[in-house]
Amino acid sequence: MLTRTGIAVSPGVAISPAMLFGSQEFRIPQRFVSVDAVDSEVSRFQASVATVSDALGENERVAREQLGDQYAAIFSAHRMMLRDPKLNGEIETLIRSKCFSPEFAASRVLRNYAKTLQNLGNAYLAERAADVFDLEKRLLKTLLGEQRPELSHLAEPVVVLAHNLTPGETANLNRDFVKGFATEAGGHTSHTAILAGALEIPAVVGIGKFLADVSAGDVVIIDGNRGEVIIDPDEATIAQYRDSLKQRESESERLAALNTIEARTNDNVRIQVLGNIEFPQEVTQCAKRGADGIGLYRTEFLYLGSDHEPTEEEHYDAYCRVIEEMGDHPVVIRTLDLGADKIPGDIEEFRTKADNPALGLRSIRLSLRHLEQFKTQLRAILRAAVHGHIRIMFPLVTTLLELRRARMILADVIEDLEEEKAEFRREIPVGMMVEVPAAALLAHNFAREVDFFSIGTNDLIQYTMAVDRAEPSVASLYRAGDPSILRLIQMVIDAGRVEGIPVTVCGQMSSDPKFVPLLIGLGIRNVSVTPIAVPEVKDVVRNFSVEDAEQIAKHALSLDVARDVENYLRTELNRLCPDRISGSPDT
Ligand code: PEP
Ligand code: MG
Repeated sequence: MLTRTGIAVSPGVAISPAMLFGSQEFRIPQRFVSVDAVDSEVSRFQASVATVSDALGENERVAREQLGDQYAAIFSAHRMMLRDPKLNGEIETLIRSKCFSPEFAASRVLRNYAKTLQNLGNAYLAERAADVFDLEKRLLKTLLGEQRPELSHLAEPVVVLAHNLTPGETANLNRDFVKGFATEAGGHTSHTAILAGALEIPAVVGIGKFLADVSAGDVVIIDGNRGEVIIDPDEATIAQYRDSLKQRESESERLAALNTIEARTNDNVRIQVLGNIEFPQEVTQCAKRGADGIGLYRTEFLYLGSDHEPTEEEHYDAYCRVIEEMGDHPVVIRTLDLGADKIPGDIEEFRTKADNPALGLRSIRLSLRHLEQFKTQLRAILRAAVHGHIRIMFPLVTTLLELRRARMILADVIEDLEEEKAEFRREIPVGMMVEVPAAALLAHNFAREVDFFSIGTNDLIQYTMAVDRAEPSVASLYRAGDPSILRLIQMVIDAGRVEGIPVTVCGQMSSDPKFVPLLIGLGIRNVSVTPIAVPEVKDVVRNFSVEDAEQIAKHALSLDVARDVENYLRTELNRLCPDRISGSPDT
């Protein structure tokens, strides 16, 4: 039995025989063709491009129907790359001038592009190399007519293990049979990780080399909660996991019954449990699971995988779709948080060359430099607000001047819309993320100038602990339970209370049940969590009183290291909810 750890990108557990995908490279039978054959070989290459292009068009259509425009855009970007005249020209030139076979020429040109991307020293661009390899595979497959195992044509449950899965392969996973997947490569921002989360398939990425340790057919456990892959587990481990899976299934049924019930502590204090979404279609799951609204709509994902800047109408349509499904519930639309690890693929102006992009031109800083684009988004939000309860939230606000500037732009946009006599809502609550220590330290001042706060613990931890949130080598320092984080959260809550504005926690911390009593004990009454965590968080809330939570918070604040805080919170959670099923053994 061998356990390997990676980055958990989609929760849940899968236990099934392994299918090794893509481990065999395509064998290119010949490097050269005869001079006489050059014309027909060029035609064969062009025909393959046309076939692959059609297949991508079909992928695009299916993705659009089943998952929405954002996913479809991934395939249209691939198609554009494939049809790129420069790329095709390079391949054809190699066939004509060097008599390379189309397979060899295509592989050589595409791999060169992929390697260049990998060597640019930018994690995001390195991940895009996977898209180029995807194109290479598709072209070679068509040129060689070779049959490879297709992930969409499976007949038995498997977990898929691969060096990397391309977005195309991930979107084609047959959810009836693919129970989970794990990859050597990949990071938080890869399209593959995002698709896994949206498809709700347990997944672990970024494991590093491990495929040599596993054979096809070996039983493998993928623990998407902890980010672990257990190869050839012993009987006892399988039994433990099977037990927790079974319990988890009945737990899900029990939790489903809570979908229509409000979250209240056992002394009847109402807690709002909202959902975090990246794509409009995720709102369906939030509504189904009884979320009290959308506490964080990460609109930058409108740009991800897109080859153009979304128009005002595209923003507007996406927001209307979310509002429509959430009915009377609030929807917090966060303005673009591009930059750092979230960089749109083909929109040159947002690419960053900074060595340390998390500390660079990101988020509201970027919006304040690209005013036209910022205004486009604000216009769409104000127009969509006519149809529901929209709130605007600015991300990564660091100084008061920045906040004031953003508010001035909003006022300009309102004036423009008024002049145009457009239909829009003028009065709209404006809040900010508190995710930079500077903002937490000045929370009292900020609280006088906004209508609400939302604490973004994902970044607050990163910037407080000086730890890159996506960097596995320093992950042990990245802890929500660190006493410094608890102090900062407490300061923000106090400022909110004194100045009379609501405070939500929308970072990943609030989706982790052990932190829920602590947050409520510190004074939080609103949490915004990943859609899959909504029922569990609602359930945990029902097991304690505000007084219990305050005692827990008081004791947690007396501890001085993260490990002790987290162990204590885990013990308290088990005490308060002794029947809780975690989904993985011993968490
Ligand atoms: C956060 O930083 O906690 C947050 C919710 O924003 P994101 O994860 O999108 O940076
Ligand atoms: Mg953030």
